[in-house]
Amino acid sequence: MNKKEFAVIGLGRFGGSICRALSEEGMEVMAMDIDEDKVNEYSTIASHAVVGDSTDESVLKSIGIRNFDLVIVAIGDNLKASILTTIILKELGVKQIWVKAQNDYHEKILSKIGADRIVHPERDMGKRIAHNIISNNVLDYLELSDEHSIIEIVAGQKIDGKSLIELDVRANYGVTIVAMKRGRDIIVSPQATEQIYKGDILIIIGADTDISRFEKNLIEE
Ligand code: ATP
Repeated sequence: MNKKEFAVIGLGRFGGSICRALSEEGMEVMAMDIDEDKVNEYSTIASHAVVGDSTDESVLKSIGIRNFDLVIVAIGDNLKASILTTIILKELGVKQIWVKAQNDYHEKILSKIGADRIVHPERDMGKRIAHNIISNNVLDYLELSDEHSIIEIVAGQKIDGKSLIELDVRANYGVTIVAMKRGRDIIVSPQATEQIYKGDILIIIGADTDISRFEKNLIEE
């Protein structure tokens, strides 16, 4: 299979860090920005770095944007440029278009014009941090939908030594423990007889209301 090729348009902090991370993972990544200084900054990091205005269809055509497997539009403040770029990419038949949204209104438009994935880094990170602040036990949190999440939570004294069957979390709380981390070990799909120990990290999936009941009754001291 051919190596996947990515393009990042807009090299602000967000686009820039995606570009850097992809390159560090050994991926082919083309970096593009209207600002020459930004492009120079990434010329040794990305596989190719080009100066260009992504709202100009001919520029995108000339770099063969259609051939990339995934294009990330990381133009932040300039909503008009972000929307126009997305429309052109869509019209040119780019397979996967991921776009950074600046606000809810921007997100709505992007989904209407067919962006394949809309990322909202500030909002999502804000929510994750808020969960960490509210509960000391929640290490990480991933929103699956408006009502469902996956969380990483630390087991405390209350459930120390209890087996999954004893707790019967699925029947009692409607949540599923999909994996457990104990030190360096990861137990994926733990068996019903598996015991939980204080300090284990539980990875739980479920409805937010159920997760919160689980947390209140079994985790909070
Ligand atoms: P952050 O730095 O937090 O990611 P941001 O997402 O608001 O902030 P900006 O600072 O707006 O990002 O940076 C977006 C980048 O997109 C800038 O480097 C800017 O030069 C570039 N850019 C803006 N318009 C275009 C365009 N039409 N074509 C290509 N690049 C563009």
